[in-house]
Amino acid sequence: MTGIHTGGCLCGAVRYTTSGPMREVVFCHCGQCRKQTGLYYASTNVADSDIAIEGADEVTWYHSSDKGRRGFCKHCGSTLFWKYEGTGQISIQAGSVDMPTNLTPGYHIFCADKGDFYEINDGLPQFRKDSPGIVTNTE
Ligand SMILES: [Zn+2]
Ligand SMILES: [Zn+2]
Repeated sequence: MTGIHTGGCLCGAVRYTTSGPMREVVFCHCGQCRKQTGLYYASTNVADSDIAIEGADEVTWYHSSDKGRRGFCKHCGSTLFWKYEGTGQISIQAGSVDMPTNLTPGYHIFCADKGDFYEINDGLPQFRKDSPGIVTNTE
């Protein structure tokens, strides 16, 4: 999905504008994403050069590993970004993108770590851990 997209957090302190292609949505069920979101992480991503963040000072970055950090609004707590150093790309929570997103669902990763209180039965591909071509910060 290309073109201009906008999005932001619940309270509006953080807003962003993206240009260029947005990846299909990847659903991550790893323990870190489960803890941070209460369920799972659903993210698209863009090249670092294709996003402009307004209110970047309002983003708190939690370093969940040596190279991975998770950005959320310091005021309302909305999860917004996931950044793995050295990739040249940044993940954006799909739910923070303004509607209509025109994003498409991709696949599920780290399914072996998912919560035991729900099933994944949408027919999309499921990977036990990560999938080829995606960089994650756990294993
Ligand atoms: Zn906010
Ligand atoms: Zn995850």
